[in-house]
Amino acid sequence: MQVVRITPRGYCYGVVDAMTMVRRAAQDPAMPRPIHVLGLIVHNRHAVAELDKWGVVHLDGQDRLSLLDQVASGTVIFTAHGVSPEVKERARARGLNVLDATCPDVTRTHDLIHQLVDEGKSIIYIGKKGHPEPEGAMGEAPPGRVQLVETEADLADLSLPADRPVAIVTQTTLSRWDTAALIERLRERYPQAEVHNEICMATQLRQEAAVNQADQCDLVIVVGDQRSNNSNRLVQVVQEVAHRPAYLVGTVEDIDPRWLAGKRTVGVTAGSSTPSQLTRQVIDFLESYMPDQIPVA
Ligand code: SF4
Repeated sequence: MQVVRITPRGYCYGVVDAMTMVRRAAQDPAMPRPIHVLGLIVHNRHAVAELDKWGVVHLDGQDRLSLLDQVASGTVIFTAHGVSPEVKERARARGLNVLDATCPDVTRTHDLIHQLVDEGKSIIYIGKKGHPEPEGAMGEAPPGRVQLVETEADLADLSLPADRPVAIVTQTTLSRWDTAALIERLRERYPQAEVHNEICMATQLRQEAAVNQADQCDLVIVVGDQRSNNSNRLVQVVQEVAHRPAYLVGTVEDIDPRWLAGKRTVGVTAGSSTPSQLTRQVIDFLESYMPDQIPVA
């Protein structure tokens, strides 16, 4: 099987920095224990399991404030997705040792939301419901000032005061193709709205590479966790923009041989939270696969 190694792929700088912070904390004897991570440091269960071996406790759940209530002492680490100011204040007020692994790109969006609030604007945040990044970003504004929109169906529930200017902000790990239609609908409704595309460079480059290089492939396999938003977006852009079949696999074991029937060239990419050894195993498997031995379905 011919394999196209789609580049760039895999870990982004925000994830690398966050994982390094957790590993260093775990290796530092002076770090107050126990060491908790508020949420999953990255949305990949293999990466999390590696860090758990160092004695780090990952608290999994959607609401960061509730997770924080489970921490009685020691160190708490905020993930690359960022947390709201309320979470930061409560952690400090409780005397916990705090390490903040928020990605600089997420911090930039938080600063932007602050600025837009100061300018008196209502904010529509395009993001994924239940994902930690919107939770942290929306917490930067007073209650009700930011409204979350994930799909066009959510537009029916939008209610913004008529006397405030409107700003539209996007989550960092969406796709520009995905958000374009939604932004267009919003601008029909709020023609004066200013748009801030906050999709990060790492996400954009991986998506553009997947779309461009999918041209040479019969199908594309994306290595990433089911919960990883950017991995799911990679599958989506290959299917919807490049019009090629695409499948998400957590590990090499998830590859269904039926996908490969009659195929000669497979593209491989990976979400920005996917450990590179998982991607390497997928590439090794595909490179040694003999397409002629597979019956055409
Ligand atoms: S995907 Fe983008 S925003 Fe998220 S951690 Fe990586 S670089 Fe930062």
